[in-house]
Amino acid sequence: MDYKQDDSYLLLSGIQHFQFCPRQWALIHIEQQWEENSRTVEGQHVHKKADDSSAREKRKDKLIVRGMAIKSETLNISGQCDVVEFVEDSAGVSLYGNPSLYRPIPVEYKRGKPKVGREDELQLAAQAICLEEMFLCQITEGYLYYNETKHRHLVLLSDALKQEVRAIVTKMNSYYHRRYTPKVKTGPHCKSCSLQNICLPELMVRESVSEYMERRLRE
Ligand code: SF4
Repeated sequence: MDYKQDDSYLLLSGIQHFQFCPRQWALIHIEQQWEENSRTVEGQHVHKKADDSSAREKRKDKLIVRGMAIKSETLNISGQCDVVEFVEDSAGVSLYGNPSLYRPIPVEYKRGKPKVGREDELQLAAQAICLEEMFLCQITEGYLYYNETKHRHLVLLSDALKQEVRAIVTKMNSYYHRRYTPKVKTGPHCKSCSLQNICLPELMVRESVSEYMERRLRE
């Protein structure tokens, strides 16, 4: 999986890493460390399926667009929506080449079942902020689809949720520009962390992985 980003935008998908553990996010997005485990491979498979049927499809009053590139200038993030459903709505926005007006609704595909944590909702709200900026509209709902339950869940995208996303992304931008990797803060979440083997919690209480590697090379 490629977690490189260009110099100007952070990857939107990093919000879920940051919410899970800011150190995990920094190891992946700042230090470019990555280790695949079965969960991440399964996650990629689910997204591949969602992004697969290239481009767009028209179903009754819906235009379904897959793998749509999105970005937000205010948040300085960019990424991709698995699916955006554009539902015909007289109060909606116009789309190039279409006579009707549409209301955009983001749909994010996830592996497994709904989580206890809120990372999926935050990621969906970040997608909504990008779409709002791109289409100059308000998006108040989206869906999370889980491959294990094969069910999609309505998520109300409130102003409070979007405000939370803005606060998280402000922190991510600050860490990224300072090249700051938070110190180890272990907890139950470490058990399911894909970076356990390179986080080196016992060794890294005082130094970053790159500092550790440099020190080892000097020894
Ligand atoms: S092992 Fe724990 S502290 Fe280290 S990156 Fe993973 S979740 Fe964060």
